[in-house]
Amino acid sequence: IIEVNQLRKSFGTLDVLKQVSFNVEPGEVIAVIGPSGSGKSTMLRSLIHLEDISGGTIRIQDQTLVDNGRYAGAADIRKMTDRMGMVFQHFNLFPHLTVQDNLELAPKTLKKESSSVIRYRSLELLGKVGLSDKADVYPGNLSGGQKQRVAIARALMMQPDILLFDEPTSALDPELTGEVLRVIKQLAQENMTMMIVTHEMGFARDVADRVFFMDNGEIAEAGPPEQIFGNPRLARTRTFLQRVK
Ligand code: ATP
Ligand code: MG
Repeated sequence: IIEVNQLRKSFGTLDVLKQVSFNVEPGEVIAVIGPSGSGKSTMLRSLIHLEDISGGTIRIQDQTLVDNGRYAGAADIRKMTDRMGMVFQHFNLFPHLTVQDNLELAPKTLKKESSSVIRYRSLELLGKVGLSDKADVYPGNLSGGQKQRVAIARALMMQPDILLFDEPTSALDPELTGEVLRVIKQLAQENMTMMIVTHEMGFARDVADRVFFMDNGEIAEAGPPEQIFGNPRLARTRTFLQRVK
């Protein structure tokens, strides 16, 4: 569902991603771990075209987003990125809109569905993330964990085939991470395709089908959680895991 070949990204003279290649199968959950500055966010952002890559090929659902550094037309890019949702560390909710209006803004702007269909789905998704009673509340009156669950529901409003998470719990107090991780775990059980950048190693071990260890702009080691956490091949993977434990 995602195919990345020889992806390169530099900022000026800084090579942030160096020949990154990987595939993600439908329904797979990938945890991306690695030290600060290793390129994890840049990799996710490249998939959804929040970054222009410097070279390489990205295919999303058998469509070519960028071929050897050459991008598809704007309409085609849009079609591909519309099938993906992204959830950020800092929620990025609209503070002047209620929870329900946060969910409904993007689908209403697209005008592809009636407002009653959109309303039905927003209430359904608020129920799914356990926030049915918060529809009319403003984000400022929510806890961090609640905000992040709203952000996940908002991403789901567009009925994406792929969800990308960039450190969804890093801005939360420890006691609030569980409620967010439970929602993500439920999506995994429903076979949502996901790539999750996370520092929560227990969660990665529990939920991921494969783990990518990024270091210095490359996927240094990839494999099932039992391998990466139990018996990593590389010394640098081991060193990283010892540091974060
Ligand atoms: P963290 O765990 O701290 O979030 P990361 O693995 O997500 O790190 P990236 O944010 O992808 O790392 O950054 C990789 C490198 O690219 C870093 O050296 C960063 O300083 C650099 N970088 C990222 N965005 C930009 C930018 N817009 N301009 C210049 N350099 C950038
Ligand atoms: Mg990052």
